[in-house]
Amino acid sequence: MTEKKEECGIFAIYGDPDAAQKTYFALHSLQHRGQESAGIASGDGELIHCFTGMGQVSRVFRSSRGVLERLENPMAIGHVRYSTTGSSNPTNAQPFLSEFSRGQVAVAHNGNLINASLLRDEYEAYGHIFKTSNDTEIIVHLMAKPTHVTKPDPLGHVLNHLQGAYSLLFLFPDRIETARDPYGIRPLCLGKTKSGAYCVASETCALDAINADYVRDVEPGEIITLDKDGLSSRFFVTPGTVTPGHCIFEHVYFSKQSSMIFGENVHDVRVRSGRQLAIEHPVDADLVMPVPDSGTSAAIGYANESGIPFDMGFVRSHYIGRTFLSPSQTMRDLAVKLKLTVVKSVVEGKRLIVIDDSIVRGTTTKGKIKSLREAGAKEIHMRVACPPIKHPCFYGVDFPTHEELLANQIDSIEEIRKFLGVDTLGYISLEGLLSCASLPSDHYCTACWSGKYKIPVNKVVNKFSMERHQTQLFDQNEME
Ligand code: SF4
Repeated sequence: MTEKKEECGIFAIYGDPDAAQKTYFALHSLQHRGQESAGIASGDGELIHCFTGMGQVSRVFRSSRGVLERLENPMAIGHVRYSTTGSSNPTNAQPFLSEFSRGQVAVAHNGNLINASLLRDEYEAYGHIFKTSNDTEIIVHLMAKPTHVTKPDPLGHVLNHLQGAYSLLFLFPDRIETARDPYGIRPLCLGKTKSGAYCVASETCALDAINADYVRDVEPGEIITLDKDGLSSRFFVTPGTVTPGHCIFEHVYFSKQSSMIFGENVHDVRVRSGRQLAIEHPVDADLVMPVPDSGTSAAIGYANESGIPFDMGFVRSHYIGRTFLSPSQTMRDLAVKLKLTVVKSVVEGKRLIVIDDSIVRGTTTKGKIKSLREAGAKEIHMRVACPPIKHPCFYGVDFPTHEELLANQIDSIEEIRKFLGVDTLGYISLEGLLSCASLPSDHYCTACWSGKYKIPVNKVVNKFSMERHQTQLFDQNEME
């Protein structure tokens, strides 16, 4: 039902008497990044206390009255999850709490490790027992390896074994360590509260939620330690030796419009992409309308550039929840309609320019177009704020397999137009999209459009990823 799914959101805070409460509010603001499970771990200086559950943040912590109070310690980390690796079940919820020879550690991860399967095979061959099916657990096994714990910087040493995308939080009983992969694929930022407590979050919207100020991004390849001595930083790869590969899809779809990602505001980048779309694919029409919410900023940009009025032809319900849980196809169709309702008086008899952030499988878009036709739209001109998606993501975004991606199966734009049932169709060019963001073009990952993966996807990774997709399809079918 859902064509592309959020990944995960993480948050940490050190040195605040209300650390768990603040983590709770920060996770609320990151809820768009994952709704399957949520969890908070806090440290009292000697012990770590952890609580996780299935569902959205409010559900997990509402159904467990008093948990937040019991987690009240001066440092905490939190996680909201959508499963990119590992099935959707309570054991895979994070933070992931473990104990090894150096004591307790709780881990929260956003991203996807492409060599996790390979490493896990190796460790299982030596008798290691894994409690979950997610890729994060391998990190703890690497940390516990006797030859690793004696290294001068054990965590930096372990991180050098990982390949893929990772923004990570580690809660030890006396400190928090946070790290970002050398390509900086997923975002991670540092903030500070008015009372001087440091915090780290996937997006700056989490800092806004607790009235903290944005300080800077955690650099690719950097480890930041938060402890009683304040903040300290070190690098586990030499800075400047790796060209970054920030996921530009964070700007297109995943991140909240209010957030600063990779140094700039998400809404601003989306508005520029809408302007660029209008330059690349102009058309005469009566109004510009978005597919809300992620198409809204780009639609504003298109309307501003073209001078064609903007209006809301769709209204989105935020209360319908996970529609794929509905028991039958008819019920699921109705649920989708409820989620996105057409405003008939806005679209009837009009020539519409409909702006969406992306098209993945195309089936959902086709349904939206059908409902606009039924409401009396005269013409529908579809404009898409990212190029045709042709390749899967191995770095933590749950796109379908090659075979399920519309633009991979249908090569011609004209054939895609016919499939969707629109009058005209225009995608922004990759060069056009990259020109809307401020960093140099080669500092972004564009693999789902270009097929050029920054971190080589070798045969082992391909095998792993195929298994991953099979697991996901199985999980989803099970739920459907
Ligand atoms: Fe982002 Fe696409 Fe790269 Fe995945 S492949 S990290 S979604 S740009």
